[in-house]
Amino acid sequence: MAARETFAFQSEGKQLLDLMVHSVYSNREIFLRELVSNASDALDKLRVASLTNEALRSSFSDPHIRIAVDKDARILRVSDNGIGMNREDLVTYLGTIAKSGTKEFLQYMAERKEALTPELIGQFGVGFYSSFMVADLVEVLTRKAGEETAWLWRSSGDGTYTIEEGYRDTCGTTVTLHLKPVASEGDDDEGRRPWERTSGEDVADEWTIRRIVRKYSDFVAYPIRMEVRHFDKDGKEVGTKDEVLNSMKAIWSRPEAEVTEEEYREFYTHVSKDWAEPLTHIVYSAEGATTFRALLYLPSKAPMDLFLREGDRGIQLYVKRVFIMQDCKELIPEYLRFLRGVVDAEDLPLNISREILQQDRRIAVIRKSLTRKVLDELKRLRDGKRETYVAFWREFGKVLKEGIFADERNRETLLSLALFRTTTREWITLDDYLEGMKPEQKAVYFLSGGTLETLRNSPHLEAFRDRGYEVLLLDDPVDDFWTGVVESYRDKPLTSVAKGAADLDAPKEQEKNLEEKEREEAFEPLLKALAERLKDEVSSVRLSRRLTTSPACLVGETHSMTPQMEQLLRQMGQEVPKLKRILEVNPSHPVLERLQRRFAEGGSLGDVPELLYGQALLAEGGTLSDPARFARLVAELLARDLEEARREA
Ligand code: ADP
Ligand code: MG
Repeated sequence: MAARETFAFQSEGKQLLDLMVHSVYSNREIFLRELVSNASDALDKLRVASLTNEALRSSFSDPHIRIAVDKDARILRVSDNGIGMNREDLVTYLGTIAKSGTKEFLQYMAERKEALTPELIGQFGVGFYSSFMVADLVEVLTRKAGEETAWLWRSSGDGTYTIEEGYRDTCGTTVTLHLKPVASEGDDDEGRRPWERTSGEDVADEWTIRRIVRKYSDFVAYPIRMEVRHFDKDGKEVGTKDEVLNSMKAIWSRPEAEVTEEEYREFYTHVSKDWAEPLTHIVYSAEGATTFRALLYLPSKAPMDLFLREGDRGIQLYVKRVFIMQDCKELIPEYLRFLRGVVDAEDLPLNISREILQQDRRIAVIRKSLTRKVLDELKRLRDGKRETYVAFWREFGKVLKEGIFADERNRETLLSLALFRTTTREWITLDDYLEGMKPEQKAVYFLSGGTLETLRNSPHLEAFRDRGYEVLLLDDPVDDFWTGVVESYRDKPLTSVAKGAADLDAPKEQEKNLEEKEREEAFEPLLKALAERLKDEVSSVRLSRRLTTSPACLVGETHSMTPQMEQLLRQMGQEVPKLKRILEVNPSHPVLERLQRRFAEGGSLGDVPELLYGQALLAEGGTLSDPARFARLVAELLARDLEEARREA
């Protein structure tokens, strides 16, 4: 037998080890995730090797992981019958750190010059060495598949380890942890909520182990067995029995045809904590540069906190069936944040941190391909199951529309996915709109800002209604953002009916008939006078082509901000110059006709300019700066009117 030999850890290994040995934090439990995942990897490796190597075929039988615990002796064992390691492997893999992420981790720690916090350790999984968080002596007894000799590796985390020959009757690995005493109360729970506290919890406890396995390793593809205490129905202990702790139900890695709707639904509840049924699910697997599988769900109802970016119910990241993190925001763009489900990546390291995720090229690839897949599925839904799609849109359309603004690459697709209510129809696409356009109609018209009700009644719509032009009614705050960046859809300009001069077949100068010209000239002095009186409120006053029944309305310059946008920016604390719009008046309206006549005869304008402006603002759902004054003016007007009526009678 080879004698026991002593080795020193390679420098980074020693550094990491020191961190582990001296760290005090609540996420100690991840050590089990790491050991189980190594065991699962070892079984994967043996399975693959046995496919090509005849000699190993018999070794790969009843693949499993076993956890054994002796609470009194404070010993915990994790074993597998996987590929195992020989002497050289032990030196290479357990004496050296070759893992991606570790260097970054150490560097990060050095830069922060801080103790390990639970948050930090949670972010950086740390592999095999995490055993030293809970153990003061670690032994690895292992035998490589196809070899005869077994080896025993030991270390107490003090900078050195030993290797000697050992005995094992099958291939595989057993990691034995000699556990430290139970964490004393209070050393790591400060500032944590009661249910998150873990001090006092003993990792040698059966129920603790069950909990940890369920939390991190439930979907590991091999059974994780443990001999557990067995009770009769009176609660009396009647011996022990073997139990499989994990469900192994990684339903995303099974062929879609083999999974029942019921299972998909159950899993949705598991990942989303939502008891309602999902609207639909998307199964996706990608192979190549980055291999991953995804199972995503569209919920049927938006949660309360859809607009709060926090919340921990987004998409779970798994790496090779091992749970990594709860709400991995990097996997999807923000405008798809309503998605729930799982992404399981094959070639990411287990110890990937949030910081690294943000820059990881593989994550970027996954995000891009998931986005495309989800948008494709939405298109399918839009074209194949319009009713379901409308239900989806009503809940999440607001969020998806953020993408029109934010995701330039997919802008066209997102525009084609958007549904709209219009002056004549409900929930139509822009393509539906184009189909319904009048032959002479030049643009896609929309009106935004305010509630659906005020939009529907807005004076801006009058001339468009008259001509039978449909107008999109945009009542979500986000609409102001994307309409600001989208100029056209399929070559048709996107035009606000409340901005610019309504380009509704405006007659060219020479075509204007005499009557019209005369009227314009006649109104000229009145318009000037109105503009002068309202100069603090409006930029100019002009005759309107968009009004038929209302006396006046307010319109923006073609490229100016909408009043809603202005308000939003103010609420966000930004300095915004007061926005002045154009007052358009309707020369055919009796108020304007009479006002013009009276003004031409030398009569005064009285309070009419203010009243005109005020009611134009009210008609579009705006707010008056001095409502009390406006109410008083209206009351005075009423009083005069009633007085006149009395005199006439
Ligand atoms: P990682 O799993 O990310 O590679 P670890 O620190 O968890 O990093 O493990 C280091 C290496 O030790 C593994 O890559 C593997 O080669 C070897 N190893 C650890 N546990 C086992 C095991 N149970 N069976 C076989 N090899 C193992
Ligand atoms: Mg590992």
